[in-house]
Formats: sequence, structure tokens, C-alpha cells
Amino acid sequence: MDLLRLRRRELERRTKELPAEVAEWKTLAETDLDSNLHWSQMEAIADLIAAFSSRYDTLLGNLPSENDQSLYESGLYDILMAIGSAQRAWDFFRRKFDQRRSDRFRKRLRAADIIAIDCYDAAIGAAKAKGWIAAEDVREPPLTYLSPELSAMTWARGTRPNDGQSEELAGSTLPIPVVEVPYDQTANVWEFLSICHEVGHEIDADLKLLSAIKTNLSKAFEGTALPQPRQRRWLGWASEIFPDLLALHFSGPAFAYMLRNILILPPNQVMQIIPGDAHPNHYIRVMLCTQYIRTMGAASPDATFRSALEQHADALEADWKPLYEDSAALNDYLADIPLVIAGVMDSAIPAMEGATLRSLVEYSKEHEDAITKGATSLRQLNSQFGIAPRHAVSVVRIAINDAIVNNSLDKEIDALSTNAIQLLEHNAPKGKRSINDPLASSPSARKSRIDRFVSQELSRSLQQ
Ligand SMILES: [Zn+2]
Repeated sequence: MDLLRLRRRELERRTKELPAEVAEWKTLAETDLDSNLHWSQMEAIADLIAAFSSRYDTLLGNLPSENDQSLYESGLYDILMAIGSAQRAWDFFRRKFDQRRSDRFRKRLRAADIIAIDCYDAAIGAAKAKGWIAAEDVREPPLTYLSPELSAMTWARGTRPNDGQSEELAGSTLPIPVVEVPYDQTANVWEFLSICHEVGHEIDADLKLLSAIKTNLSKAFEGTALPQPRQRRWLGWASEIFPDLLALHFSGPAFAYMLRNILILPPNQVMQIIPGDAHPNHYIRVMLCTQYIRTMGAASPDATFRSALEQHADALEADWKPLYEDSAALNDYLADIPLVIAGVMDSAIPAMEGATLRSLVEYSKEHEDAITKGATSLRQLNSQFGIAPRHAVSVVRIAINDAIVNNSLDKEIDALSTNAIQLLEHNAPKGKRSINDPLASSPSARKSRIDRFVSQELSRSLQQ
């Protein structure tokens, strides 16, 4: 019957749309130098779409004869559902890639990507070199995207327990991790330091750290007088403590300066402990960071490095404490901090052959010196020096501190912002991440991860 044949033809034409669209993006990721950054992500997405389309191509191929009308109609329905699932999965990424077409956001989003990839590579590169992550478990680096939120970390509380997942795809293991940044936060490049925390969640997920962190924290509490409810609270915060402390390893004290500033909120929001919140309250978060900074130079033989870190911690506390003077109710928690640091960062992680999380990514005297020197250069409008992107974003935050001391922030802030984007661009990874790259995901592992994702999505849509 012509009507049924036409319907089949219509659906067939629709099945061709998605692979064609993704192929265009893939070509762009290959030919446009700026888009090279996204090559491995685009390869994964192309695999994703190929897995979806092979499902509906099979359904199309197996469509019964149109003489069997009811079977034919239900076959058409299954094809339609499979197209819908594929479109929804791709749309999750399409909207994120489309943001890169905007003249307003392209450069800033690229800066965010550059930082996210560098943080991810610093941790996963170290873990891979030491055999703490198997080649097949290495994933594509996170893709950043913009969202109308207030802050990447302050307000997403409770709603997105893992910042690498979107609510739309909740419950599914995304083939590519994603990191969300508020649209308007891109006006302040230094606030991209929040990406370091978000990538910390990806590292936690990829190295499967959380249960070991919680076990270690419980062990640290054993034999102490810490009451059970307080122990439970710290354990409930563990998934957010590690990303903050790892971010200090990625980018140094600059991360804490950024965090402290975005957490300046009314006292009831800063000082209150909210039951069920995955984050320690804001006051405790900042104090955790400052106390951790004091420990970061402990193993260094260099007294100037140790004292530079002490000075950062002093400066962070000196400006923070007077904002919230009534902190007596939190004294017990503040006194627990050394124990918490020992449990989370200084205990043996079995999956890391007994190494500690403190040893995962080094923040060294050389890094601190390069950031300090870089801040001076950036204030002199030099944005063409070499420095790791995760440190380049610290350079601008420290330059801002220096401009404040110099009483010239208003005069300098716009130029610092523009030059920071240029500095990140200057230090962007060049070329495509390809199979030979030690940090590329292995094609077979990627395919099996994606096949799992696709079968989950399809079984879900067929159940609806
Ligand atoms: Zn978080």
C-alpha cells in the first residue's frame, strides 16, 4: 500500500538526518583548529550516534511485509522511538556544541574547556602513568557548557549530586563528562577556577575514589571522641571535600581566593549546617581550604615556599573571619579539620596502590613561583608566556589580589580579563587528541561504554 510505503520512506529519511548532522560537526572538529580540542569528544559522540543508528537501521531492515499491517505499524513505531532516543541523546550535546557558534561565548567557553582539559589531564595523566587507571577506563575530557545558574558550585546543591551529570540524563552514565558554568560567570575568567572543583568530581568518578575516601575518613575518626552525628555529617560531605582539596593541587591557593569570594553570602547561608547537604557549610569550606593550604608545603625543604603558602592562608582567613564573626557554634567542626584532612588526603587509597590523594597531583614551589611571576607579567599586559592552563587561571586571580593591594583594581580589571583569555589561548593544547595520545580513550572501551548507554536509553524509551 502506497500510504505505508510512504510512511516507511518518511521515517527512513528521518534516520539519515542525525548521522549527517554529526558528521558535519565531526568534520568541523577536524578541520577547524580551535575545534581540534573537541576531537576525542566528537569521536565518542559519533560512535554514540552510530550505535543508535545501527539500532534503527536494523529495525528498518527487519520491518515486516506491509501486508502484515499491525506488525508493520508496530515496527514503524519502534523505529520512531529509536529515532527519538537518538535525537534526545545527541541534543544533550548539540546544545552544548551550538553554544560554541556564538560570537559572544565562543572564546570564553574555549577558555573554560582549556582549563577543564588541563585539570583532567593532570590527574588522569598521573594516575595512568602510575597504573592507577586502566587504559580502557580513561574517558574523554569533560566538555564545558553554559547554563543560567548562579554559580557552578554554590547553588547546585542537592539537585545535582554529581556535577558531571545533567538532570535530563540522570541515571545514565554519560559517554562524555560535562561541566556546567553560568553564562554570566564567563565575564570573570578567574571564576573559572570553579571548574577545577567540578573536574574533581570527574576524577572521583573515573578513579572510583569515594568509597575509599569514606572508609579512610571513618578510620581516621576511630578511637577519637568525635560524636557519631558529627562523624556522619563529615562522611556526608566527603564527596565535596575531595574536589575542593584537589582543586588546590590543580591551581594552588588561587582556587581558595575564588571560592572565598563566591561564598560571600548572608550569614544564615554561610554559617548554617543544612542537614542532607553534600557540601560542608560555606564557612567550613573556606576554613578547610586555608588549613589545607598550610599543609601543602609541609614536605618541601624550601622555607620560602612554606612561608608563601602560610601567607596565602593568613590572607584568606584575615579577610574571611571578620565577615562572619559569630563562628563559635562551628568550633567543634573547625577543630575536626586536621583529622578530616588526614582521613581524606593522607590515607592510603587501595586503588592507588596505597598512595595518598595528596600525592595525585603536585602543586610545587615551581608552580607557585610561576604563578606569582605570571601575575606580574599579566599586569604588564604580557599574555604570551608559557604556563599550564590550570595555573594560567590562577595567574589572573593572583594578579587581581596584587591590583587590589596596589589600589588599582578598577583601572586594571578589564585588561586583566582580556589578557587572561589570551594567556589561556596561548597555552591551549594544540592538535587533536588521537589514538596515539596516552590520554586518549581506547576505541574499544569507548564503544562498549557507548553501547551500554545506548541500550539503556533504548530500553527506557521502549518502556515508556
Ligand atoms: Zn561539587
